[in-house]
Amino acid sequence: MGSEVLSSGQIVRGRCTVCKEVTPHTVLSVCREKPGEVRCRHCSDEHRFKTPPPTREEKEKLAAEKLHRKKMAEDCERWSSLRPRMIDAKAKDYSMDGLFKKKDVVEHPVFGLGMVERNLGSHKVRILFEDGSKVMRCQ
Ligand SMILES: [Zn+2]
Repeated sequence: MGSEVLSSGQIVRGRCTVCKEVTPHTVLSVCREKPGEVRCRHCSDEHRFKTPPPTREEKEKLAAEKLHRKKMAEDCERWSSLRPRMIDAKAKDYSMDGLFKKKDVVEHPVFGLGMVERNLGSHKVRILFEDGSKVMRCQ
């Protein structure tokens, strides 16, 4: 959310109980940095500010973020559980012309220890690193 200070006279998006939809509202009073009383610019009804429901884009963005966070957490957990095996295994240094197969342990100069999860074909492998799985080039 923006850090700009809200003041009366500003236009905000809000739900209007009369119009039954999200309409622009003029802020009449501010309460704890949030709109208090507002006036609908469509029907001129004055009422307490009602937060508009998230738009489809906002909803999609939130869902994507949530999924991403979940995936990151899962990757990190998988990595942690595989870590003892990675340390025991002899890690290959990662290079773009390296040849990797599933379960190979690789040492990447930036991402650190990882394990090949899948060979994706067309010179790509998916490697699980501590900060998530990444698609890397290989031979
Ligand atoms: Zn209205």
